[in-house]
Order: sequence, then structure tokens, then C-alpha cells
Amino acid sequence: MNPRPRTRWTSAAHCWDETGEHHNGTPTYPWGHAPAGLVTRRQLRALGLAPGGHDPVAQMLRPRRRRPAEPLTAYLYDITTAVDKRTPTERQHVAIRAMNRAHRICITCRTDAGYRIPKTPPCEGDCIDCAGVAGRIEGYQPETDVA
Ligand SMILES: [Zn+2]
Repeated sequence: MNPRPRTRWTSAAHCWDETGEHHNGTPTYPWGHAPAGLVTRRQLRALGLAPGGHDPVAQMLRPRRRRPAEPLTAYLYDITTAVDKRTPTERQHVAIRAMNRAHRICITCRTDAGYRIPKTPPCEGDCIDCAGVAGRIEGYQPETDVA
């Protein structure tokens, strides 16, 4: 019978559960105590690898004093099933650059704002100046020449 899953983690001992008995079957280790061969997604990346569609096989937990019900969690992947990460082709790089450029163009004055313009208020696709002139930025002052 599967025991009740744990709901509070207040010590590293609560994070030792190699069989996953108390973590819905997910093998669980304290922070920094993952067995060799199990690594985080970031560690895979550093090795030029990706999960390759495989789900995490284990997790590391670190208790958080103020939130014992929500330990810090790192999902662990089996390094033996990882694959070489996909590297974008030159055509994909060109497409990404074009997309980023499009996001910098203000929909009102059509100039390149030099930053990625949010589609959300107050900008709504306008650069800061156009959004300010349109009265959507409280306390907006047009930038005066400092040079
Ligand atoms: Zn503008």
C-alpha cells in the first residue's frame, strides 16, 4: 500500500526517499545528494545535452523554513537517456532576429525603440514616448535633450 505522500518538509531527512515511497513514487534526494548520473536540466545544458523528451526520473528537495509545504525542487534527468541539444540553424537565427526586431518597432511612430515593446498596458505595442503622449503612463514627461 502506498503511504500518504509527505506534505511538509522541514529537514533534509524528509528529503531522503530513494524509493519515492512518500513522494508519489518519485525517487527523492536532499539538495546536493543526487546519485551520479542524475542531473538537472541546467547541468544537461552545460554538457550540451537535452532531456530528449524524457521526463525527470527523480527530484532533489531543499526544505524552506518559511514554506514547509513548498520545498525548493530540482527535477533530475537520467544522463544516459539525454540527447545532443538542438542547435538552431542559420535560417532559424535569421528568423529569430527578424522576430526580435519586429517586437522593437512601435506600432504608432514605426521607429525602432531599441527595446522589446510590451503588448500589455500601458505600452500596448507603443514605445514609451507614444504611450506617454497617449496619456497611458502616469506622470510621463517627454524626454528633453540633455546633450
Ligand atoms: Zn512610438
